[in-house]
Amino acid sequence: MSSYEGLLAAVVAKQGGRPSTDPATGEIVGHAPEHTPEDLDRAVRSARAAQPGWAALGHRERARLLEAAADAVDASAEALAELITLEQGKPLSGPGSRFEAGAVSGWLRATAAIPLGTEPIEASGATIDYQPVGLVGAIGPWNWPAMIATWQFAPALRMGNAVVMKPSEHTPLSVLAVAELVNRVLPEGVFTVLSGGRELGAALTGNPAFGKLMFTGSTRTGKAIVAASAGHLPRLTLELGGNDPGIVLPDVDPEAIAEDLFWGAFLNTGQTCACLKRLYVHEDVYEAVVGALANVADKASMGPGIEEHNTLGPLTTREQFRIVDRLVEQAKASGARVVTGAEPDRDAPGNFYPATLIADIDPEQPLVLEEQFGPALPIVRYTDLDEAIGMANALDTGLGASVWSADPGRAREIATRIQAGTVWVNQHGTVDPMIPFGGVKGSGYGLEFGVEGLKAVAVPRVING
Ligand code: NAD
Repeated sequence: MSSYEGLLAAVVAKQGGRPSTDPATGEIVGHAPEHTPEDLDRAVRSARAAQPGWAALGHRERARLLEAAADAVDASAEALAELITLEQGKPLSGPGSRFEAGAVSGWLRATAAIPLGTEPIEASGATIDYQPVGLVGAIGPWNWPAMIATWQFAPALRMGNAVVMKPSEHTPLSVLAVAELVNRVLPEGVFTVLSGGRELGAALTGNPAFGKLMFTGSTRTGKAIVAASAGHLPRLTLELGGNDPGIVLPDVDPEAIAEDLFWGAFLNTGQTCACLKRLYVHEDVYEAVVGALANVADKASMGPGIEEHNTLGPLTTREQFRIVDRLVEQAKASGARVVTGAEPDRDAPGNFYPATLIADIDPEQPLVLEEQFGPALPIVRYTDLDEAIGMANALDTGLGASVWSADPGRAREIATRIQAGTVWVNQHGTVDPMIPFGGVKGSGYGLEFGVEGLKAVAVPRVING
């Protein structure tokens, strides 16, 4: 029995259920339970019963249990990584599923360790401290299912809340597997994962038992959640879609930045919220940057993630494949230049879309303006920096952005002019459990990670006098 099979057997539906398929082959990995609104009611009752006791344990004991949960994940990390690869598609190696399984325990440990106590308010006798909300509902996407689930449940648990989570219908098994591991040490009822489709997500969103909702997914669904929850006013953290720009200044060494630029765009085959999704390159270095990126693209090996040598996997869903295909075909028809890729095998059983670089593209093309969420990077030529900043800021998204320059001080100055939750300098998309992360504009609101992330899943209480 290979290492993931025991973990899979523990989480699949006892009978029936919804098939979860391997995006590399189209074969069924396993059937996830199809949880119902009645299961949701039961989970809410258990969470309500368990939460006061969990809160009463205090920060130190909850942190100890989150550490123990991280140990449980580490003990089965290879099995979890294999399951993520089979269900979501990302390769085992590189910044793939082993990295993701490591991030689950890494985030648990870092979240356990963040100090947060009562804070005095300067020049007054008042203090502020952070109480549990009670029940936190969480809904997640399919691109980094296990890691993003942990971004949601670890801080919420740390702050003394109980959590009910609904993962994406495309990757339920990976998140059920995380719950299976961490629930080996957590008290019963504090963390429940229910698998199901959009309707179950809508039922969770509309349930007034939740004082806080954490949502990571598309902007469209984020807006639906705001509308559906307006009647009972839960606090919201919305991590939504992005269309991150990168601006390359004329002073760069194209060879030196090419690897980081490439992986900033193609991490997880481009299916990352904060991937570089449109690149603006100054005309002086345009051809050199395009050439250096093409060299890196040619070396990347795409195939089933379960094969160790592959660094790029399939797209998780056929729908995402079609979106990328449509945007690239439109760009080709508009006269843009295909540097590499753009010739997918549409009849293959797997959702493999080749790593694609599109140069000399009109900045108004849909491939530039819409979130492709896949392995196709449009590279726009610019002459004037103000014009590039204007194009970077023109869209109604603002998750991440990056500035690339031999002069990091100048790049930081330019970064202050860009509308995004994070602007990276000479890198794109790196995240750290201690550094706050979140979007602006259509990319959502609220912060995750670090002490701000803990405060976001708590209720502030001021005592004055
Ligand atoms: P999606 O919005 O289609 O689905 C996300 C989740 O919402 C799923 O679990 C789905 O079942 C659920 N859902 C759908 N309709 C619902 C409704 N009406 N009420 C409640 N829940 C509902 O998003 P996706 O396709 O899974 O994820 C891709 C998107 O997520 C991309 O736009 C990407 O940029 C974004 N994303 C953002 C971040 C971030 O941190 N900002 C991280 C990862 C992904």
